Amino acid sequence: MSEQRIAIVTGAARGIGAAVSRRLAADGMAVAVVDLDEAAGKATVDSITAAGGRALAIGADVADRAQVDAAVERVAAELGAPTVLVNNAGVLRDNLLFKMSDDDWDTVLAVHLRGAFLFSRAVQAHMVGAKWGRIVNLSSTSALGNRGQANYAAAKAGMQGFTKTLAIELGPFGVTANAVAPGFIVTEMTASTAARLGVDFEEFQKARAAETAVRRIGMPDDIAHTVSFLVSEGASFVSGQVIYVAGGPRA
Ligand code: NAP
Repeated sequence: MSEQRIAIVTGAARGIGAAVSRRLAADGMAVAVVDLDEAAGKATVDSITAAGGRALAIGADVADRAQVDAAVERVAAELGAPTVLVNNAGVLRDNLLFKMSDDDWDTVLAVHLRGAFLFSRAVQAHMVGAKWGRIVNLSSTSALGNRGQANYAAAKAGMQGFTKTLAIELGPFGVTANAVAPGFIVTEMTASTAARLGVDFEEFQKARAAETAVRRIGMPDDIAHTVSFLVSEGASFVSGQVIYVAGGPRA
């Protein structure tokens, strides 16, 4: 490879973001591991550097403009101009509509949608300058509707419209934007859902596997594999797409 690509992955301390970070590093990219707490990203960075890769942990709240702009400036100064962005940071505040608080709504919309907006806006100048870029936004099968997730479903459906618009606006500059919509993936997020429902996590996984076409639940590496393809050099004609990675045709 001529020049090393610089990637930013948000919410990368654990779960899907950590797996994506490790995969992009294994693909040859330098990776900025962004999470709320810089110290929390250290494990991901250590696993990348132990494997011979290059990574940097950065603490930033994706919903805070000043912190996002500072994070992107730090990446550019310490790793190089970022031209790959994976908007992965996420939270759940599940509640049925009649019990959903203003804060449940605002927090979820802020982290997923505002976070993806702020990071994409801050990074696009580097991509346009390089006449090359890749943006991948994490949507979800919940975008199609899911009980108890009016906030999350709205945010994840919003990610899809946001992605398609980025694809249109940034395409002329060699930048692609795509969304990955995972089904059930084993992470702390789904473990917390099982706990909230009072269901044993192992039993929860078995039940979800039984209703999935390929008869298994997803792992973070399933998502990392798809992201790796979308940010690859050869994927330059794939843009504005939503790829459901859910072990079957529907949620
Ligand atoms: P996870 O294990 O809960 O990890 C999410 C990470 O995001 C955590 O490290 C968290 O940090 C970080 N984060 C939360 N708020 C943040 C903020 N404001 N700024 C920066 N970082 C923040 O979740 P996951 O399962 O890996 O999910 C990753 C993405 O995939 C999310 O967008 C999620 O909605 C999406 N997704 C997941 C599934 C699934 O089944 N797991 C399915 C569909 C879509 P803290 O630990 O400090 O909170």
